[in-house]
Amino acid sequence: MLTDSHCHLDFNVFHHDRAIQLHQAFSAGVRRIVVPSVARQYWQRTLQLSGEFCGVRLYPALGLHPFFIAEHSKNDLNILDSLLAQYSGRIAGVGEIGLDFSKKKYDEESVLQDSKEQQLELFEGQLMLAQKHKLPVILHVVKAHDQTLKLLRQYPDVNGVVHAYSGSLSQAEQYIKQGFKIGVGGAITWPTAKKKRELFALLPLESLVLETDAPDMAPDGLKGQRNTPDQVALIARFLAECRDEPESLIHRVTSDNVEQVLQLTDPCSP
Ligand SMILES: [Zn+2]
Repeated sequence: MLTDSHCHLDFNVFHHDRAIQLHQAFSAGVRRIVVPSVARQYWQRTLQLSGEFCGVRLYPALGLHPFFIAEHSKNDLNILDSLLAQYSGRIAGVGEIGLDFSKKKYDEESVLQDSKEQQLELFEGQLMLAQKHKLPVILHVVKAHDQTLKLLRQYPDVNGVVHAYSGSLSQAEQYIKQGFKIGVGGAITWPTAKKKRELFALLPLESLVLETDAPDMAPDGLKGQRNTPDQVALIARFLAECRDEPESLIHRVTSDNVEQVLQLTDPCSP
């Protein structure tokens, strides 16, 4: 059994063929998919995706993504707070949340500075909600691992997944110490990602989870195309290769790891 711990099946690019994608994922061995949302407009849609479809179980997570900081409003946190209470027991975690300090979106340093402050405020607000509702978090962190780790130390009870991990070995060890799992995605298949493969070979398998981040982060053969959840099987194969471990072990342990850290309550039970 494979678990895709991070797939944006709620995005519009899957509207026309979501059922086909789920059938393909099922054929590739995928049985569970966590669907993190990125902004308020996706929350209801993500909640509707909870349950079993075409043999695959879908688990929604609700959050405000740092990359879309300009689209979020202050009141979104209050709405998130009430949805987390209303759907208590049916939500896998608070996510996708975090800090993205990459420069790609900002032409000027001053704009990035303003955004950093807003992102920190929004991130902390969501960490507080995770703590309040006793939920794990799904983190998106780019060029901000030290700031994230510093903030997380104030929330020692909060753990979760660091998705599409891009930090160092020592930063990974600090996340793991706080109970986080490290997300391994399509980047592991890229010819340029030798360092990443070395890092994922060094970390304990008990700390790793698999993810596609579909429709983004397409693996090597699909570059430039829409990524899909069945590709998690390819990511598992690459991880097995670079760790020199059997694929079946990778499937089982990484699935167990997702179950351990995210709240995967049976979406089909009343
Ligand atoms: Zn994502």
